[in-house]
Amino acid sequence: MANTLPLLGNLRIPTGGALFGTRIHPITGVRTMHNGIDLNESPFNRDAPIICVADGVVTQVRRTGVQGGAMCHIRIRHDNGFNTWYTHQRTNTITQSVGDRVRRGDRLGIIGTTGQSTGVHLHFQIDRGTNATAINPWGFLFDGVDLFGQGTTNPQEPTTPPILSPNPTHVVIRNETLSGIARRYNTTVAELARLNNISNVNLIRVGQVLRLPKATASPQIVVGSRVRLTDNAVVFGTTRRFSARVYAETWIVLQIRGDRVVIHRNANPRRGEIDNIMSPIDVRHLILQ
Ligand SMILES: [Zn+2]
Repeated sequence: MANTLPLLGNLRIPTGGALFGTRIHPITGVRTMHNGIDLNESPFNRDAPIICVADGVVTQVRRTGVQGGAMCHIRIRHDNGFNTWYTHQRTNTITQSVGDRVRRGDRLGIIGTTGQSTGVHLHFQIDRGTNATAINPWGFLFDGVDLFGQGTTNPQEPTTPPILSPNPTHVVIRNETLSGIARRYNTTVAELARLNNISNVNLIRVGQVLRLPKATASPQIVVGSRVRLTDNAVVFGTTRRFSARVYAETWIVLQIRGDRVVIHRNANPRRGEIDNIMSPIDVRHLILQ
């Protein structure tokens, strides 16, 4: 019986998100194996829940952490011998304990950036107990491989966030609020109300098309610009510096979101192309090349 529960909630491959395979680590600058797949919602949603992909038993959990320090995570053992591992959760959002039975569809916290991470995302891994036994989760997540015998996987295609058009809009879906939409696009309720002539901010309807603020990056920096990071550019949300290698390289602007931009080593990252900076960088930290 096909189960259409969206696995992992609505998490997808973000533009520049790290896939399974070797990559240059965004913090250490060293080429290392990436044993899982990095996901977030599109458009980016910092409150995205993480949803358990199959029934199992919790074998490891850490509920508190900080960016650059301890990592929140939960590991689940499944009957078929595989484990799933969900990491970087926001601190204090995991409720399960070791020994708990969990079901497919249970919530396993909210995405975050605890541990060695440069931005809010979920690192999702499937293995037989160690990093060395990790398998590529792509087939299970996106190509219909029924790894756990609980039906096929994510019914929605992996997507990359759309590049903001000159006149970006958002179509309201069920249960959305103006404040939630404002958060999602890095703007305010007042700004959305003004742009859309909304007098009662509690009254929006499903299907309503909302105008969003235009991208406001500096006029010189556009999608496709080649840039470098200034010496004082730091990992988003922290005072931690990137590795020397990150500062030395030329990057390509993939997206502009307000005064933040997403940069990548490659103008058209391929599916297997995983060297990246996932976190939006403040436009003031970019030098046009
Ligand atoms: Zn990862």
